Amino acid sequence: MKYNHPNGTKASILLIYTGGTIGMREDPVLQALIPFDFSQILEEVPELGKFAYKIDSYTFDPLIDSSDVEPSLWVSLVRLIEERYDDYDGFVVLHGTDTMAYSASTLSFMIEGLTKPVIFTGSQLPIGTPRTDGKENLISAVEIAAAKDEDGHPLVPEVCICFDNVLMRGNRSRKFNADHFRAFRSEDYPPLAEAGINIRYNRSLIRIPESWEKRPLFHTALDTRVSILKIHPGITPGVVRNILLGEDTRAVILETYGAGNAPSKEWFLSIVREASEMGKILLNITQCVAGRVNMDIYATGKSLKAAGVMNGYDSTTESALGKLFYLLGVFDTNEEVKKGLEMDLRGEISK
Ligand code: ASP
Repeated sequence: MKYNHPNGTKASILLIYTGGTIGMREDPVLQALIPFDFSQILEEVPELGKFAYKIDSYTFDPLIDSSDVEPSLWVSLVRLIEERYDDYDGFVVLHGTDTMAYSASTLSFMIEGLTKPVIFTGSQLPIGTPRTDGKENLISAVEIAAAKDEDGHPLVPEVCICFDNVLMRGNRSRKFNADHFRAFRSEDYPPLAEAGINIRYNRSLIRIPESWEKRPLFHTALDTRVSILKIHPGITPGVVRNILLGEDTRAVILETYGAGNAPSKEWFLSIVREASEMGKILLNITQCVAGRVNMDIYATGKSLKAAGVMNGYDSTTESALGKLFYLLGVFDTNEEVKKGLEMDLRGEISK
């Protein structure tokens, strides 16, 4: 593993700070955690200076708790990475954990043909607190963003989440624990790397671009007219109608039971059919934290398929949302969007 260029120049990393617990401190007046100036984070992590890398930083203004993330932040992030793409070997994005999986997923679609690492990280405890997990997360993320293979190519040219010594593909990850340091999981795809005494890369699982020389395409058109309907016992026709037939919706993600099942009642299926006939794109994702949709096993799943619902396979909800925002932003016709949904574009689904 190499970290510097074959010609001896230092690896260079751009550290992008958007906010989140990692850089928060207690505000004595509000008695709540609020974000603080990024320069203090570098003071808190002098260990970064021990790497022989050139590390620059960029701080978003305003800094936000990631619960306030909007697609406009993703557009700004993508534009920033596009502008600085040729200047750095890798990018590390410091981000709140609450919506990190949404941001990492959506960015993975917005950047097509990525040839450099974009590693998201954050922490459960602020970096200034004694037991913080932020230092370890940040140091590992920087090391991974700088890592090169024997030919001098980045080892992980993907959008990832690095958390608690595990590197996960961004669009396969979800936040699953609000308390533990192991806050993220990627249930349907193995880790891309694990950090112990050494960082062990699972190189056969890492996506490699078609061409290292080609500059990626940076897409910034997102169409967010997407809703999510989580099926549950007792769901009413009024709720289903409002979400599925809403005027301002081009697509609806159905979070169904198990292998993609939903109520078999006629009122439910007839609303699904009506939505489909109206031209809404309906995508079936399982509520389970792992496993996949298969609409051919049970009669309830078959009825959804017959009503025009598409298979989301083993996609996470976060990834399905980001993929739809991207596809709807890029394509005008349902045919093109549906074709994209069926494809594994960035390693987000296994078919
Ligand atoms: N609320 C915080 C955020 O997502 C939580 C965190 O960073 O862990 O910004």
